[in-house]
Amino acid sequence: MFPTLKKPDLVRQQAIIGGAWLDADSGATADVTDPATGAVLGTIPAMGAAETERAIEAAAAAFPAWAAKSAKERAALLRRWNDLMLAHADDLAAIMTAEQGKPLTEARGEIVYGASFIEWFADEARRVYGETIPSPWADKRLVVIKQPIGVCAAITPWNFPNAMLARKVGPALAAGCTMVVKPAAQTPYSALAMAVLAEEAGIPAGVINIVTGTDAAAIGGVMTASPVVKKLTFTGSTQVGRLLMRQSADTIKKLSLELGGNAPFIVFDDADLDAAVEGAMIAKFRNNGQTCVCANRIYVQQPVYDAFAEKLTAKVKALKMGNGFEAGVTVGPLIDEKAVAKVKEHLADAVAKGGTIVTGGEHTGGNFITPAVVTGVSPAMKISTEETFGPLAPLIPFETEAEAIRLANATEFGLASYFYSRDIGRVWRVAEALEAGMVGINTGLVSTAEAPFGGVKQSGLGREGSRHGIEDYLEMKYLCMGI
Ligand code: ADP
Repeated sequence: MFPTLKKPDLVRQQAIIGGAWLDADSGATADVTDPATGAVLGTIPAMGAAETERAIEAAAAAFPAWAAKSAKERAALLRRWNDLMLAHADDLAAIMTAEQGKPLTEARGEIVYGASFIEWFADEARRVYGETIPSPWADKRLVVIKQPIGVCAAITPWNFPNAMLARKVGPALAAGCTMVVKPAAQTPYSALAMAVLAEEAGIPAGVINIVTGTDAAAIGGVMTASPVVKKLTFTGSTQVGRLLMRQSADTIKKLSLELGGNAPFIVFDDADLDAAVEGAMIAKFRNNGQTCVCANRIYVQQPVYDAFAEKLTAKVKALKMGNGFEAGVTVGPLIDEKAVAKVKEHLADAVAKGGTIVTGGEHTGGNFITPAVVTGVSPAMKISTEETFGPLAPLIPFETEAEAIRLANATEFGLASYFYSRDIGRVWRVAEALEAGMVGINTGLVSTAEAPFGGVKQSGLGREGSRHGIEDYLEMKYLCMGI
């Protein structure tokens, strides 16, 4: 069960459509479990196509009045929502740890990070500037105005149940759009708790609608087919992203896609090795390796390979795995059995192809696998080509800068990348050569509301956060005025 909350009504076992908290039409429910214990936390309505249709109608009904509010009014409501999220951060963190598994301090960090997007876009709402264009005609004036796209649909994953939603709802609402959201079935309570606070902040009924359920294909099918939905924003796997993009073709929907990553983390021989180890720990083991910007392939230049491996292994051994509610725990469980199976598969494949597990990699029961370091990794192994999404650090040796760049770019993905070097020429060369939307240079942590988050290649479309993030929810309209 959930731990005792200061505000128990943050936990809702119903979905919200048009301001009404509802069960599924059929009355069917789905269980939500604690990944650390396997215990059932509660249920959610198992909604499907019909409820999704109604949520879209509710969002469409709420749109004109929401879009007509001044940017300053919308900003005030968003700021109030941000304040409530921060005021209830402890409860929101506890809800997240219960359903997602991450350590409580990390969950609290995510609440603050998520809220920062609501705050940021509250401010950006007031900076949606248009344009005046010098006219080539003496008798015409040319102006560009920005308007909200309309009803948007959002599908979010389980790894950051609060932040992934905040990064979408924040800019959408700031721009004047209304939303229908489908959170991941594993982590719906974080999303529903945010909706409780949005309601309390005074955000009108129908502006944020949340549809819960396990039949993602049915809900996503209605979202993509609907001509009322003008835009879809999705964070999740590349495979599902491709499917949603295909499904959105018939209605020419605008898309923001934040898909898989396979981040390279390169340590050059001139790097500050301790700093690189520190960065690798953050980039690899945050959220137990379950982030799309996690370092997935760690390339280390030959002369420092052994020293780096030794230092990293010592740090990994010092991690404390356990239930996220226990004090001092730094890595929680994986989300579910499927995630455990994938990490085990990657480990077995690496060992079969000549890799060595230096530490960790033991499945200790349930969804727990001890954090692992693998050396002697070759490009033929699955850990070199696929996203592991787990606590497994593969160390791959390389000789030259050109080789490191070639290996780093040898993937269909292009989300985050990281490298450590103190040579300013190399820093520029490598930063420009990496095929990625984000490059961490001498740091293992790049995300913040002020900066554009997103990928190139098959890692997605669009950017979240920064002054660019709101543009994804705006249309420009060109006015040509005869005078
Ligand atoms: P993961 O493997 O991290 O769960 P997914 O891409 O499967 O990544 O899931 C991300 C989100 O996409 C979740 O909310 C999930 O329910 C949803 N999803 C999965 N399959 C579909 C689908 N066919 N249509 C719409 N949404 C989907």
